Amino acid sequence: MIEDKNQQRTSLGNLGEFGLIEHLTHDITTSNPGTLKGIGDDAAVLDFKDKKVVVSTDLLVEGVHFDLAYMPLKHLGYKAVVVNVSDICAMNAVPTQITVSIAVSNRFPVEALDELYDGIKHAAKIYGVDIVGGDTTSSQKGMILSITAIGEADADAITYRNGATSTDLLVVTGDVGAAYMGLKVLEREKQVFQVNPQNQPDLDAYSYLIERQLKPEARRDIKEILKALDVKPTAMIDVSDGLSSEIIHIAKQSGVGCNLYEEKIPVDPQLINVCEEFNIDITTVAINGGEDYELLFTIKMEDFEKIKGNPNFTIIGHMTQESEGIHLITRANTKIPLKARGWNALQNESEE
Ligand code: ADP
Ligand code: MG
Repeated sequence: MIEDKNQQRTSLGNLGEFGLIEHLTHDITTSNPGTLKGIGDDAAVLDFKDKKVVVSTDLLVEGVHFDLAYMPLKHLGYKAVVVNVSDICAMNAVPTQITVSIAVSNRFPVEALDELYDGIKHAAKIYGVDIVGGDTTSSQKGMILSITAIGEADADAITYRNGATSTDLLVVTGDVGAAYMGLKVLEREKQVFQVNPQNQPDLDAYSYLIERQLKPEARRDIKEILKALDVKPTAMIDVSDGLSSEIIHIAKQSGVGCNLYEEKIPVDPQLINVCEEFNIDITTVAINGGEDYELLFTIKMEDFEKIKGNPNFTIIGHMTQESEGIHLITRANTKIPLKARGWNALQNESEE
């Protein structure tokens, strides 16, 4: 479905490891004052003055975390940076640097890695992070990509998963569920394409969902928005595995319960239409579909007025005493225990 636009195919063997590193990184410059030394020595040197440093790593394996049949390499590079930046944002910190490590088989030409790095460099620019190092090696099969993100924050700004209290309100940014249905649409189109390669799919009706899957964005803006509103979240996490799984993380680690209100969960109109088309329950997708990279956080009850009506935020529930458990309150006002199925579990279930 995604045609191979690489007219030219330069074998990785032509460049060798050092040649390849030079080829991929020669145009990388740094702009963060805290980056004292980037690529080119045995290690990068960073300066955080009196700030605390936050660090997060993700590892992405071809065939497990991404499928190059419908994930263009440029998007993969962009998304790999975004998911790491999102983890830094979820600590209420500012992302500042990344390192990039790749292992590839010789099935990939140099031009494919150029595309991957186009996406990585583009995301680094958008999110204001310097690429300060990495590692490059070969794999026997497929591509493995690991990014480490580094960020900084004042000690008192850092927000952990375990800070919620039983009277806090539960808030989410943006909308949820769209990235999961974007994946479902892409998987369906891949199957259609395999049957009939001439088929040119019309994906207009799914544009938002596909964009959420292929080109997600991290909520780097939220830290500043909350600061301007004079709200400090008591606990925070990013929505990578699905809303219900993240709610359970915050509640369990904070030693509290939670009521999530079905009618409050923010979803995009396109998600509603596509769930009808696929005959899937919208709430199931909204709470179990992952990869939205929105932020989920709790605030003190007294901050309600500061958040209320703000288009960036939706108050979707409230924390409770731990003994009350973690529940979804449905539109029909029934109470269902929330389960952490995550989007992988959801995928298995829908394939059964
Ligand atoms: P070493 O032998 O010390 O691991 P390398 O020759 O692997 O050093 O790397 C040389 C420099 O290039 C280092 O600064 C390293 O961080 C950087 N580097 C290597 N691979 C990558 C990559 N894929 N992306 C960005 N920087 C890289
Ligand atoms: Mg190395």
